[in-house]
Amino acid sequence: MTFHFTEVAGFISLFFYASFFEWVLHRFLMHQPIWSYPFKSHALIHHGIFRSGPTYFLTHDEDLKKVRFAWWNAPLILGLHVPLLLWIQDLLQMNIFFGGMAALGLYYFLYEYLHFCMHVPKERWIEKTAWFSWLDSHHHMHHKRHYNNLNVVLPLADLVFGTLVPARDRIAVPERRRRTLTLTPTMGQIRS
Ligand SMILES: [Zn+2]
Ligand SMILES: [Zn+2]
Repeated sequence: MTFHFTEVAGFISLFFYASFFEWVLHRFLMHQPIWSYPFKSHALIHHGIFRSGPTYFLTHDEDLKKVRFAWWNAPLILGLHVPLLLWIQDLLQMNIFFGGMAALGLYYFLYEYLHFCMHVPKERWIEKTAWFSWLDSHHHMHHKRHYNNLNVVLPLADLVFGTLVPARDRIAVPERRRRTLTLTPTMGQIRS
């Protein structure tokens, strides 16, 4: 096997793995009071503000910061995987580290970006794709049924663990939201 092939294999494997990691994190840390921080910020605050129906969408700009994870979540989650991937690389005697970390980084980015677009629609080109539309319906169903549709990016784990509830209808963005959506360019100016 060449160096490049193993890194690509690492990328693909870790991208699929990320679906299961996302599911476990979401199901147990974000929806169970095992550790108060993720439970409070997600199950209580995020789901408390963003519900199903019209309240699925951002209504008050001061709630913008309740859509995304805190900045330090990314280095924490990715950093925890560094020793794991180095260990697997050593075990397999194959170069998979950079491909694997790239997959985890991409998955994390997609989670944040897609989830943000779902709750804060702005008629972006990606929102018009069938793929996003399906994922958006999938996540809207999660805001109705908190223990279903736990994946945001790749619903593979939902499928495997039997938590996937098909969502046929994509909720329309309320007209009021279309008209009034104006995000200030400097997010820091928005009240938290
Ligand atoms: Zn959400
Ligand atoms: Zn949730």
